[in-house]
Amino acid sequence: MKRLIFLGPPGAGKGTQAQTLSNYYQIPHISTGDILRQAMTAQTPLGQKAKIYMDKGELVPDELILDLIKERLTQPDSQKGWVLDGFPRNLAQASFLEQLLANLNQSPDFALNLIVPDEVLITRMLERGRRDDNEDTIRRRLQVYRDDTAPVISFYQERGILQSINGDRSMEAVTSSLQAAIES
Ligand code: ADP
Repeated sequence: MKRLIFLGPPGAGKGTQAQTLSNYYQIPHISTGDILRQAMTAQTPLGQKAKIYMDKGELVPDELILDLIKERLTQPDSQKGWVLDGFPRNLAQASFLEQLLANLNQSPDFALNLIVPDEVLITRMLERGRRDDNEDTIRRRLQVYRDDTAPVISFYQERGILQSINGDRSMEAVTSSLQAAIES
C-alpha cells in the first residue's frame, strides 16, 4: 500500500516517474493534467473550460479540480493506494487533500519532489512539444509554479513526508532513487 504525491516543476518528469511507480506498486496513476487533456479531447464541459486556462499556462480554477479529485480518490481502485501527479498544485489544493484524506482515514506516505534546473526544464518541454509547450506558455507555467506550487513543498516538509530527489539524471537513475526513498 503506497500513497505517493509527486511535486516538482513542469517538465521535471513527474508523469514518467509516476507511471513507472504506478506499474511497480500496482496502484492507480492519477494525473490531473491527463484527466484535463482527456476532457479537452472529448470536448466535455470540463474540458472546454479547462482549455482556456491550460493554453495560457494558468492553473485551472480549484472548483474544477477538487470535485474531480474527490471523485477519483473515493473510487474502489484508489483504496489500495495511488500516485498523484499534478495535484496538489497550490496550498488550497493541499489543504483540501489533507481534509479529504482525513475523512477517508488515509494519509500520504511521501511527497516526492523532483529537482531539475530551469534551463533543463525548458529544453525538455520544447522537445516534448505538447500543445501547451510553446515558449510563452512555458515561461508562464514556470512562474505559476514558483508562485503557487513551490509553497506546497514546505507544506509537506512541515508534515515530515518530503523527499527531494535530483531529477536531472537518467530516467532509470531517478526511478532507483525514488524507490530507495519510498522503501527507506
Ligand atoms: P506540467 O506539470 O508539465 O505543466 P500537467 O499535465 O501536470 O503538466 O499540467 C498541464 C496544465 O494542466 C497546467 O498548466 C494547468 O493548466 C492544468 N492543471 C493540471 N493539474 C492542475 C491542478 N491540480 N490545478 C490546476 N490546474 C491544473
